[in-house]
Amino acid sequence: MTKKNGLRTGLARRTFLTALGAVGVMPLLSTYAKASGPRVIVVGAGFGGATCAKYIKMLDPGIDVTLIERSDSYTTCPFSNLVLGGLRSFDSIVHSYQALKSHWGINLIHDTAAAVDGQARTVTLGSGPTLPYDRLILSPGIELLWNAIPGYDEAAAEIMPHGWKAGPQTLLLQKQLAAIEDGALIVIAAPDNPYRCPPAPYERASMMAHHLKMSGKSRVKIMILDAKDKFTKQDLFLQAWPRFYPGVIEWVSGSQGGEVTAVDPKSMTVTAKAGSFKAALANIVPPQSAGQIAIQAGVAKIDGWCEIEPWAMESKNVPGIHVIGDACMPGAMPKSGFAANSQAKNCAAAVAALVRNRKPTEPVFMNTCYSTIAPNYAVSVVEVFRAATNGVIAVVMGSGGQSPMNVPDSFRSAEYDYAQGWYDSTMQEMFG
Ligand code: FAD
Repeated sequence: MTKKNGLRTGLARRTFLTALGAVGVMPLLSTYAKASGPRVIVVGAGFGGATCAKYIKMLDPGIDVTLIERSDSYTTCPFSNLVLGGLRSFDSIVHSYQALKSHWGINLIHDTAAAVDGQARTVTLGSGPTLPYDRLILSPGIELLWNAIPGYDEAAAEIMPHGWKAGPQTLLLQKQLAAIEDGALIVIAAPDNPYRCPPAPYERASMMAHHLKMSGKSRVKIMILDAKDKFTKQDLFLQAWPRFYPGVIEWVSGSQGGEVTAVDPKSMTVTAKAGSFKAALANIVPPQSAGQIAIQAGVAKIDGWCEIEPWAMESKNVPGIHVIGDACMPGAMPKSGFAANSQAKNCAAAVAALVRNRKPTEPVFMNTCYSTIAPNYAVSVVEVFRAATNGVIAVVMGSGGQSPMNVPDSFRSAEYDYAQGWYDSTMQEMFG
């Protein structure tokens, strides 16, 4: 650590030591004050942050790693659609942070990172204290842009759930789905790119349709109002829907007027360019940006997402801040949990090198997105990515690809098993 950093650290230490009125975080803060190694702070303990914090500790236990997360447990968006379909219990997608605290020696602080000062290299907690860092990793996920669709704000989301942050919203959707009457209309509003998990609206329609099939409600219709003209794995979804859910799911593309322009939760009306629809259940997925703390830290661009250089996932705007997961705009990589986990491991290796004054090695990234369409029937898209010479992350041409069309059911059933295996092993990797 440089002398300048040492001075800055000393000042910031005094700042947070005067704020120790925050009783819950006091023991952790005194550990923080005593740290001897380089200090890394990670904000957000989801797919990106939890993985990154754990890998830094695994690579170099001498680095002092502090993980700031506002929630006491983590509920995954992956497989939340399967909860709606009745293929998973809600409890099976809720995970404890206990092992990260007790086994890996990470200082886990349950608080909100309220402000980042990229010049002074400090993070201020919602409860008051200010913590200095040598390197900061932001993985705060997404912010939902309220009122980007006129009428859709936080209050409206309690009537027309988004279900795009798993937890109470998932349970609300599940309750509304169970209560729906036969012959009613469900509307799903899918946003334009970029957004969290491109295939998830279509997997959600499939899982809702499966639930209705199992409940004997064969006359309910699901209409997907889409701002886009095409979506990932489109031919695979469009081939499977008539087979498993004949006449149930209708997709209205952007050029057919699918873009939703307003909602009215009082009358349960969803208005798109194609017309107005009265829905019994309206699942509105609004446009999104990087999580608020990334915006506050000054690492987001005007479009709301954070540009990074690919070798260390370091912000192009503010040195010393790395952005991973949904909040970053990593060239060709989609916003998925798999991608966030892959970025997290590369970022951990790079940061562990940088704080010891070593050069990071060249990263290779991977993504696989599984989508479940019916029980024992899943499809996927797989890609490998590398840092391109123009400073973005690019697909390695010819790597991976989408599941083929027209294969025997045993192929889809194997992909369904791979999806379960991916989920279980990733949860173990993040939280075990
Ligand atoms: P998150 O996992 O959202 O983690 C962010 C964390 O930061 C949260 O725990 C939050 O509480 C915390 N946080 C935010 N701001 C602060 C702050 N200021 N202070 C303290 N804490 C803060 N991906 C897949 O790979 N496979 C799938 O099958 C899949 N299915 C999906 C299905 C649905 C319905 C949806 C919506 C998404 C799905 N995804 C899937 C995408 C996946 O959920 C995201 O890409 C992934 O969660 C991104 O990880 P992250 O670390 O960027 O953000």
